[in-house]
Amino acid sequence: MTAASLTGRELATTIRAAASARAAELTVAGRQPRLAVVTATDDEASAAYVRSIANAAGKEGIACDLLRTTTAAGVSATLAQLADDPEVHGVMLQTPLPEGALLADLARAIPAGKDVDGASPESLGRLTAGLPAFAPATAEAVLALLDYYHVELHGRHAVVVGRSVVVGKPVAHLLLDRHATVTISHSRTADLAAITRQADVLVVAAGRASLIGPEHVSPGATVIDVGTNVTDAGRLAGDVDPAVAGVAAALSPVPGGVGPVTTALLLRHVVEAAAAAG
Ligand code: NAP
Repeated sequence: MTAASLTGRELATTIRAAASARAAELTVAGRQPRLAVVTATDDEASAAYVRSIANAAGKEGIACDLLRTTTAAGVSATLAQLADDPEVHGVMLQTPLPEGALLADLARAIPAGKDVDGASPESLGRLTAGLPAFAPATAEAVLALLDYYHVELHGRHAVVVGRSVVVGKPVAHLLLDRHATVTISHSRTADLAAITRQADVLVVAAGRASLIGPEHVSPGATVIDVGTNVTDAGRLAGDVDPAVAGVAAALSPVPGGVGPVTTALLLRHVVEAAAAAG
């Protein structure tokens, strides 16, 4: 048996088409949606990700400004300006950040209405409390992919590997909201395989290539691989060993799974923020 491949490209195309149509309407009304991405890193993988967002935004009629700074103070000053700029509807702060800076701390300067990647503590708090907020696009993409392929969550055991504020924790909350029973595991989890084998739905967001092998997965499980790792050969690889396809019922590929849906949802958030700004 080989697992079904939960590709995200078709879903991403559908989400982007809708965002593009709405962006065109808003532009005609004199309010072209505009995203500002703030970076403070020389990391090449991060730069490539930001370029791909700008490229995708351009294709869908969304303006995108890339703002580069090098210090935490520079990030704070840039975010403060963007918070007050009525022409900017969405603000995203790209990681990694300068040494010692915390995303949640700096992202406090992004107003909730512009926080299109759900990075601020206010957005995360609102999400956890069940109040309207933009969820981090990656976390929302995991749920969107599961829904697209009609994966049942109600009453199922979901195991999340990773507890970051950007992916692991918000994914766990979104799964909980959908009535899954959720276990969160992390680098200090004792006997990871014993935990992950309990999963009906396994979401892996650890940033460790091939962390999850066939021995971590129960036959019939659905596995969503969020990981993006650059191998020594320069290829993009997930956190899940491809051999897991021999055990799982379904597995999302890297690249081509969560990634394209994340970008599409980010663009949708920018358009929603622009629509709400009127
Ligand atoms: P992160 O902040 O580095 O967090 C990684 C998490 O994984 C931490 O909670 C860590 O545990 C846990 N972990 C690390 N090694 C582990 C191990 N051996 N066993 C169990 N847990 C382990 O990373 P992130 O920002 O959440 O991103 C995770 C991955 O998703 C990365 O590969 C990133 O590139 C990718 N990503 C993809 C997208 C997309 O759109 N596809 C978007 C964002 C991120 P501790 O808390 O104990 O350290």
